[in-house]
Amino acid sequence: MRENTGRPGNGQSDYRQTELPPNRHSPEAVARRRRRQRWKRIRFVLFILLLILAIVLAVRCTSRIEEPEESSLSSMEESSESSLSSGITSRPAPDESLPESTENEESGVSGGDVSDESSEEESSDPYAPTDASEDWALMLVNADNPMPEDYTIELGNINERFRMEKRAAEQMIKMIEAAEADGIGLYVTSAYRSVDYQQQLFDTNIQNLMAQGMTREEAEAETARNIAVPGTSEHSIGLAADIVTSDWFYYHTDLTEDFEDTAAFDWLSEHAQEYGFILRYPKDKQDITKITYEPWHYRYVGLSNAEKIKASGLCLEEYVEKYVKGEEESLAE
Ligand SMILES: [Zn+2]
Repeated sequence: MRENTGRPGNGQSDYRQTELPPNRHSPEAVARRRRRQRWKRIRFVLFILLLILAIVLAVRCTSRIEEPEESSLSSMEESSESSLSSGITSRPAPDESLPESTENEESGVSGGDVSDESSEEESSDPYAPTDASEDWALMLVNADNPMPEDYTIELGNINERFRMEKRAAEQMIKMIEAAEADGIGLYVTSAYRSVDYQQQLFDTNIQNLMAQGMTREEAEAETARNIAVPGTSEHSIGLAADIVTSDWFYYHTDLTEDFEDTAAFDWLSEHAQEYGFILRYPKDKQDITKITYEPWHYRYVGLSNAEKIKASGLCLEEYVEKYVKGEEESLAE
């Protein structure tokens, strides 16, 4: 029973085990064995042939599947490349497309060989202003360039207390909100000041210094180094703001240089230009601005201009001298 009722499919070997041993050397048994071995060989050869056929079919099938995969992949690469290249071409290259317009404008105005040379110079300059709609924001106001007496400004609120020129105010609000989101509480201590108010500030400071023992001359000179003479302050054109933090302001009675050691100053140094503002009186430009270093005083110059001025490393006086005055002169010619 054991040999025949074994596991199904093993019947043959069970049969061989039970049947073969008694007749192993009889001619029938030998012939049967040979036949079986031949069958085995034939089955083996057939199996190998089938295997080879299967492999060949499999290889052909996969190669047929791979072909369209390859082509779809390469078309994807092509499309991504083409979108990339179209992205590059659609982006205005500062060295090529934009300055060309200024070149055309200039050659249209003066048309001479000299201005062509200077405009070529400008077109290869990555710091040259490219957005004419922001030209107004490059207005230079300092001791040598007082603001026009009849200058009028449309003001906008930046909070309950302070106002700036409308467009500058909008960007100031955005900048304060962005800083807030980064955990920096910017605090404006001064923004737009009327010429009259600037006069008050100026006079009061002179009085204070004279009370400390200075002569009027000394007091005026010292005051002029720290407070713009009325009519020469950017605060009066609504484009400047003094910015610290409420914490800092709480512990200081005056604006002092150590504001540069705060996280707020670091934040402004990194981000102000993204909102159109520049540090107006840098430490290394005091001999040019004629104003002592003010890490709190920021000036709106326009979004595009601010990025360019920041990247150029120039102060506003230098930038206007290099890029705006030359243009004004060529326009006047
Ligand atoms: Zn200021």
